Amino acid sequence: MSKRDYYEILGVTKNSSDDEIKKSYRKLAMQYHPDRNPENKEAEAKFKEATEAYEVLKDAQKKAAYDQFGHQAFGQGGGHSGGQGHGFEGFDFNDIFSNFSDIFGEMGGRQTKKRSAAQRGSDIRYNLEISLEEAFRGTVEKISFTIPSTCESCHGAGGEKSDICGTCKGNGKMRAQQGFFIVERTCTTCSGSGQVIKNPCKTCRGEGRVNKEKTLSVKIPAGVEEGNRIRLSGEGEAGSRGGTAGDLYVYITIRKHQFFTRKTDDIHFEIPLKFTTAALGGAIEIPTIDGTKAKLQIPEGAQNGDNFRLKSKGMSVINSGGRRGDMYVKINIETPVKLSGDERELLMKLDKLMIAKASNPKSESFFKKVTDFF
Ligand SMILES: [Zn+2]
Ligand SMILES: [Zn+2]
Repeated sequence: MSKRDYYEILGVTKNSSDDEIKKSYRKLAMQYHPDRNPENKEAEAKFKEATEAYEVLKDAQKKAAYDQFGHQAFGQGGGHSGGQGHGFEGFDFNDIFSNFSDIFGEMGGRQTKKRSAAQRGSDIRYNLEISLEEAFRGTVEKISFTIPSTCESCHGAGGEKSDICGTCKGNGKMRAQQGFFIVERTCTTCSGSGQVIKNPCKTCRGEGRVNKEKTLSVKIPAGVEEGNRIRLSGEGEAGSRGGTAGDLYVYITIRKHQFFTRKTDDIHFEIPLKFTTAALGGAIEIPTIDGTKAKLQIPEGAQNGDNFRLKSKGMSVINSGGRRGDMYVKINIETPVKLSGDERELLMKLDKLMIAKASNPKSESFFKKVTDFF
């Protein structure tokens, strides 16, 4: 069986513009579309023929290949034979189908857009920032957002009753032939359900859902960590036409604290400390994440950078029934500045005393080594 010339099929010439080709195809497609010619094999064949011709002629690259090699350009007859294709890759079917809906969306008007398949609603992500104290204690947060929710007018059904889908005759599937391929695809009119809504709900236009403001209380467990997500089952987008709702995922971020740094279940805290306290030792009071004060005993002769552990004064450990990590307090010894005359005098006296008594073993031995080195 010899194939007809693509230009002849569409009633155009090699010099016709893209617009003329499209217009001509639309005319033929409207005339022979299977929806308008049910059970008419001849119309169906003409429709497919026109579509195939259009798929080639609307594409500059394919058109050029066709102009040069004719039907041979597409490996005619022998299935998909890459060798004969003159480097031509064949049809892009996604392309073809997006085009179908393009053309028929324009042509058929609104009725081709109605869908009736029940679809699960999407999952939703909500980002929630809390303080470190809240993460420690656990909290209940109220969150509000706008989300597609079940339409109350139609209880999510989208409309009154279902009819058999006219596009696929209730099959839910369409067969499309292109050149050497036959492709079965889900009917886009009814999303594969084979049925369409008869009297679409006016409130939701047949979608079964409308945007609504929603407020929820989210329970955040004590010890929650940055990046944890809390799933609220069924609180995501409503499904369309009776489909189940998606889930809501609350993603936790924790604000930076002015004092405390969290490392897993422990809390790290750096404090400045007077050099006299470091030398003499003494008890100091420090804040903790639970809001109370803790006593830290600084031993005599504490050194800069020393790290002290306060057991069980850290973060709550999630799902542990109240167990806590530790707190680490690192000291940064401060050298006094803007000395008064008295202070200076005392310090000079102290300096002499310390040399006599070898009170600074590290620096003394270090400088002795330096002297030997010279
Ligand atoms: Zn509705
Ligand atoms: Zn259908």
